[in-house]
Amino acid sequence: MQPMTRRNMLSRTSCLGTAVAVGLPLISAGTEELPGQQSSTTKAKLKVVVTGGHPGDPEYGCGGTIALYSDLGHDVVLLYLNKGEGNDKTAHDPNPVRVAEATKASEILKARPSFAGQIDGKAIVDQVHYEQFHRLMEAEQPDVVFTQWPIDNHPDHRAISLLSYEAWLRMGKRFALFYYEVSDGEDTVQFAPTHYVDITGTEPRKRSACYAHASQAPDRFYALQELVTRMRGIESGHKQAEGYIHLVQSPVVALP
Ligand SMILES: [Zn+2]
Repeated sequence: MQPMTRRNMLSRTSCLGTAVAVGLPLISAGTEELPGQQSSTTKAKLKVVVTGGHPGDPEYGCGGTIALYSDLGHDVVLLYLNKGEGNDKTAHDPNPVRVAEATKASEILKARPSFAGQIDGKAIVDQVHYEQFHRLMEAEQPDVVFTQWPIDNHPDHRAISLLSYEAWLRMGKRFALFYYEVSDGEDTVQFAPTHYVDITGTEPRKRSACYAHASQAPDRFYALQELVTRMRGIESGHKQAEGYIHLVQSPVVALP
């Protein structure tokens, strides 16, 4: 993808519901901030962390946005709560399938995979795991974090959302925090975006990254997620879009 001009970057991003002009990651001029908030959009290179309950969640919820960020030269990490294995099998398997799939998906999106070490379907949210996850996030020093919306029918999705929120609090609310949606109705419930990113140009790479998770019935799940991105596209005036909810107390930063 060619570097985008400021004009077409502005046109790519729609912001509804709040009077926020979304910042430009590589061009600091023109960034606006909410009163009392600071923006880190003046940094030339952003660290973007996308947290998800399982391998595949960041890709399904944010894959088009991730591809835009990485194409712009930003550093993107996909931080998965677990390795997609429901017991300790992964620890003894030298070639765990879902880790290989996540690695391939990350390569397609030019991101780096990372794993928080929990077990699929047995997410734990307590003081020990808040502290462990906080340390992981401190090591990354993110400018922007995307995580799952906390009202969700999968307990691992709720867990990663709470762990991410607690890390944001413990780190002094200093990174921008956005929530994303997956498999609405089945998983995410009652999600009303405040921001949209036009992913029309990067949707094919998002699709490839999702299909890299070949063990996870991508025909079924991608069809469902594409309904969501087409609906968000209708809402925001694009062919396909990803919708986000910006946490109002977090900095206003840089959607691509
Ligand atoms: Zn999941």
